[in-house]
Amino acid sequence: MVIIVLIIMSQLHEKIFQALKILLNIEQNFIPLHEPSFDGKEWQYVKECLGTGWVSTAGKFVDEFELQLAQYTRSKYAIAVVNGTSALHICLKLAGVKPNDEVIIPALTFVATANAVSYCSAIPHFVDSEEKTLGLDPVKLEKYLEIIAEIDNNECFNKNTGRRIKAVVPVHTFGHPVDIDYIKEICNNFSVVLIEDAAESLGSFYKKRHTGLDGLMSALSFNGNKIISTGGGGAILTNDESLAKQARHLTTTAKIPHKWEYIHDELGYNYRMPNINAALGCAQLEQMTGILQCKRYLAKRYEKVFNEIQGVRFFTEPEFAKSNYWLNCILLDIPDLELRDKILKITNENGIMTRPTWTLLNQLPMYKDCPKMTLTTAEKLSARLINIPSSANL
Ligand SMILES: *Cc1c(COP(=O)(O)O)cnc(C)c1O
Repeated sequence: MVIIVLIIMSQLHEKIFQALKILLNIEQNFIPLHEPSFDGKEWQYVKECLGTGWVSTAGKFVDEFELQLAQYTRSKYAIAVVNGTSALHICLKLAGVKPNDEVIIPALTFVATANAVSYCSAIPHFVDSEEKTLGLDPVKLEKYLEIIAEIDNNECFNKNTGRRIKAVVPVHTFGHPVDIDYIKEICNNFSVVLIEDAAESLGSFYKKRHTGLDGLMSALSFNGNKIISTGGGGAILTNDESLAKQARHLTTTAKIPHKWEYIHDELGYNYRMPNINAALGCAQLEQMTGILQCKRYLAKRYEKVFNEIQGVRFFTEPEFAKSNYWLNCILLDIPDLELRDKILKITNENGIMTRPTWTLLNQLPMYKDCPKMTLTTAEKLSARLINIPSSANL
């Protein structure tokens, strides 16, 4: 009996489960993957907002939230919107993405990155990720573009499809910055626009610069599971004054400001963040420092524990980055779907919420026929990667 127990205990999925159990100290019967913490002035600001009656698209909290976001990230402009997906949509539109253009994005990302491309009637073109950042692989991208791209009149075309490649959208996956300097250089060389999906990376820095400042524009998200939350929400960052103005105009139904008249000078969107969400956002932003400290402390503890277990490692930030450790993950040394699923099963059945990574987007029905490069690393990563509990309060 003892021997049997020892054999079972020595299996990797058991070891990982035990390690998580001890580290997370589960007295509670359920540990979610990520929950927001509202330990600041959330109640106060939301109450204040209700008191003013201004709960929708006008009111002081939206302006205040935008100001604070710009200050925190050191972006010249921040435009608050209803969610990260709409932020991306507007970024792509203003980048000049037109119907039938291609937009290069990693296959390993949340579906919203591709959906925003589709909302422009453009076509996602999937590229591989690298293990070092879990984001878009610049070396592979460069080699790939050298083969498939043709520059004509300062525009980039896909030789195989004849379509224009208008933009590249790298994602700072789980909050870990991609090698943006390199990607930016590639974009310049191939005349494509760089837009950053920084939905997961508020509070993450690349060589001391906040993520999202290197592209023409970038998108943040404040969904319930992100590093800070406004319920639902997002923002567009840009250093370009004219783009900021256009973004503000497009996201407020393209209405010309006027005391009483309704004049809309183009097709706009009702994407502006409501004041009540911004009230929550102001309180959340005040706590960024504390949240980030908690996250890094949790990551340090995970790193230490998983260092002791052979066959798996805790993913840590690349050397050029200071990451927000938004969503932690472990990587199996060897791709092994069966083992991955055993770990998912034992943890989820015992109150520790874990998740596999997103299904690669090229495998989803609406994106299965999209152009793509060979996705070797992304495929391996999906058979190696497990997200583990990451809330700041752990
Ligand atoms: C969350 C997320 C989005 C979209 O944000 P929403 O606010 O949920 O619309 C986009 N891209 C990535 C990578 C995300 O994680």
